Amino acid sequence: MYTSPRRSVAFIGSECHPFVKTGGLGDVMYALPRVLAQQNCDVRVILPRYACIPQKYQDKMVYRGEFYMDLGQTGRSYYVGIMEYVWDGVVYDFIDNQEFFSAGNPYIGLVDDIPKYCYFSKAALAALNYMNWIPDIVHCHDWQAALVPVYLRTLFKDSPVGRAKSVLTIHNLRFQGIYNIPTIRYWTGLPDEVFEMGALKQDYVNANMLKGGLAYADRITTVSNTYAWEIQTAEYGEKLEDHLRYHSYKLRGIVNGIDYGMWNPATDPSLAVNYDITNVLQHKPENKRALQQELGLVQDEGKFVIGLISRLTDQKGLDLVSAVIPQVMDGNTQVVVLGTGDKEYEDTFRYYENACKGMFSACIQYDEARAHRIYAGADALLVPSRFEPCGLTQLNAMHYGTLPIVRETGGLKDTVEPYNVFNGAGNGFTFDRYDAGLLLDAINRAKTEYFTSRYHWDEVVQRDMAKDVSWENSARQYKDLYLELTPW
Ligand code: ADP
Repeated sequence: MYTSPRRSVAFIGSECHPFVKTGGLGDVMYALPRVLAQQNCDVRVILPRYACIPQKYQDKMVYRGEFYMDLGQTGRSYYVGIMEYVWDGVVYDFIDNQEFFSAGNPYIGLVDDIPKYCYFSKAALAALNYMNWIPDIVHCHDWQAALVPVYLRTLFKDSPVGRAKSVLTIHNLRFQGIYNIPTIRYWTGLPDEVFEMGALKQDYVNANMLKGGLAYADRITTVSNTYAWEIQTAEYGEKLEDHLRYHSYKLRGIVNGIDYGMWNPATDPSLAVNYDITNVLQHKPENKRALQQELGLVQDEGKFVIGLISRLTDQKGLDLVSAVIPQVMDGNTQVVVLGTGDKEYEDTFRYYENACKGMFSACIQYDEARAHRIYAGADALLVPSRFEPCGLTQLNAMHYGTLPIVRETGGLKDTVEPYNVFNGAGNGFTFDRYDAGLLLDAINRAKTEYFTSRYHWDEVVQRDMAKDVSWENSARQYKDLYLELTPW
C-alpha cells in the first residue's frame, strides 16, 4: 500500500458523474477524487447544484449553510447555499443558486454561461472560507473553473483560502470561455492588471477566462503527455500556443484512467452476459448477438462489429468516418453508432441506417447502459479524432476486450500501442495523418486480422483486458504534483 503525507484538495469543476455529465470531464471528476481519497487525500468536490441533477441525489443532499456574496460590479448580493452529500470518502458540496443553475442543461450558451461560471468560481472559494475548510490545493478544471486561480491571487489573496496552491487541468483546450472585456469585468470585478495581455486579455475586444487561469495557476496539467506537447503547437494550440509555451515550465501531462467499479465486464449490470479475461472469447460473441438483437441488426456472430461512441462533433473525426462508410460496408461488417451532436452527422448516420438495413445502426441518443453493451458486444471501436486530449472510449473498449482503431493523436497515441503484424505486439490499429484513406486502411488491417488471423486477434483481446488502465497510477502522479507544491 502506497502512503505519502496527507494533503487536502478541493476539486472545482462544472460536471461530475453521476450527478451531471456531458463528457470525459464528468468521468474524471467522479473517479479521481475517490482514488485520491484512498491515497491519503482529504477531498472535497465543489459543483454547481443544477436543477437537472436527478432527484434521487437531490434528496440525499444535506443543507450545510448559506451566505450572501457580492459579485463584480453588479452592486448586488447573491445567495450562496451549500448542500452537502458525503459518499465513499468524498465530500460533495453543491453551490446552490436558482438564478444561475435552474436550466435543464449545465451548459446553455455563452450569454448565460459566462455570468454563471464567474459566479460559481467565486462562490466556490467563498464557500471554502465560509466552511472554514482551507485546502492545501485547489484543483480546478477547464474554463468553467479557470477563474478560480485568478480570484485566489487577487480578491481572495488575503483571505484564509488565499494560502492554497492551485492546479488547473485542461480537459479540452477548444473551450476557453471567451467574451468581451466589459462583460467579464462586470461579472468578476477583477482588478485592471488581470485584463492585461499576459493574463485574461485575448485581444482589444475579448477576455479569455482559460487564458487567465493558465497565467495564475501554480501548475497546469492536461490529460495526456502527447496533448501537453501538442497544445504548444499552432495546429492544436487553439490560439493559446504562445501563452502555453510561455508557461510550459509548469505544464505537464497526466493520462486519465477509468473507474474499475463503473467499468467492469465481470459485474456490469447492463450486459447480457458478464465475462472476464478467462472467458471473454466464449462470452463476447453472446454479447455481440444480444447487441445485434437489441439494435435490429442481422444476428450473426461471424460479422465484424465496429462501434462508435462519441459526441458527434468535428473534433471526433466524423467527416473521415462518413467518407469511408460505403467502403466499410462489405456485407461482413456491421457498424453501430451511439451519439448526439451536430445535425449534419446525425443525419448522415441516419441515412446509412436506412441505406444499409440490418448492418448499420444509428442510435442518436445519450444512453449510458447502451454504451456499456456496445463496448461489450463490438469487436472494434473507432476513435479517429482530429484531436483528443485523452479519450476515455478507447480505454473502456480495451478493458472490455474490444480493439480500438484510433488516430495517433493526444491520449490516443499514449494509450494505444499500434498492433505489429510481425510479432503480434500492440493493443489496436492506428493511423497518423488526418486522412480518410489512412482511416480506411486501418479499418481494413483490423478486418484482415479478424477474419484471417483470429488466434492473434484473440491474443490482443486478452492483452487489452489485462492492460492497466486504472486510475491508481495517474492518481499517484497527481498526488506527487500536490506534494511538490506543498513541500512541508
Ligand atoms: P469527450 O470528453 O471529448 O466527450 P471522452 O472519450 O473523454 O470524450 O469521454 C466520453 C465519455 O462519454 C465516455 O465515457 C463515453 O462512454 C461517454 N459517451 C459519449 N457519448 C455517449 C453516448 N451517446 N451515450 C453514452 N455515453 C456516451
